[in-house]
Amino acid sequence: MDKKKLILASGNKHKIKEIKNILDGLNLEIISKDEVGLSQIDTIEDENTLEGNAIKKAKEISEHIQGLVLADDTGLFVEKLNGEPGIYSARYSGSNASDLDNNKKLLKNLEYVDFNERNAEFRTVIAIVLEDKTIKTLIGICKGKIALERKGDNDFGYDPLFIPDGYDKTFAELGPEIKDKISHRANALKLLRIELEGLLKDE
Ligand code: IMP
Repeated sequence: MDKKKLILASGNKHKIKEIKNILDGLNLEIISKDEVGLSQIDTIEDENTLEGNAIKKAKEISEHIQGLVLADDTGLFVEKLNGEPGIYSARYSGSNASDLDNNKKLLKNLEYVDFNERNAEFRTVIAIVLEDKTIKTLIGICKGKIALERKGDNDFGYDPLFIPDGYDKTFAELGPEIKDKISHRANALKLLRIELEGLLKDE
């Protein structure tokens, strides 16, 4: 029998790579929206929660295609900045901000904050639209600190600035072998894996 398809409602190559890596081994064909010809769909993320935006992204793709559809919405919440950049992480320094611009703004806003007070957490909400169009959401968190400067080559979003608890290197230095085991995204997808294993077994 053909494998079921899981379509990723994301065009972000880093996210796609991580999700494929973390969900590896499931009896599913995991493909991105670009690979199914839906690259032109770019959902406007105007909800005021990660959950709302994740659901919006997944639903929009699921209107165009059969199969399971998964979306991820992520934010970095910094304690000393009252939770900023939070749901605005992608456009922290403006609507067309690059990751580097956002990193620089975060460093600037924490300029006078000691390392031991730079607590932060990444939060990811995964939304999945199932074949009967019901929607499930799963949350993953990773706690850590914001580094004093950018470090590391695995340059995705705020990864060069985020040092997860229990480590003394940034996600960008630690690389996928470690990040994909302990990250916010990995924690949300571990919960999803349990759901999917149940779903695939019942068939
Ligand atoms: P979104 O979930 O694509 O809306 O991402 C929000 C912002 O967080 C963007 O600036 C991303 O670059 C950043 N981001 C998302 N996931 C990660 C991650 O795993 N590490 C570092 N930055 C991330």
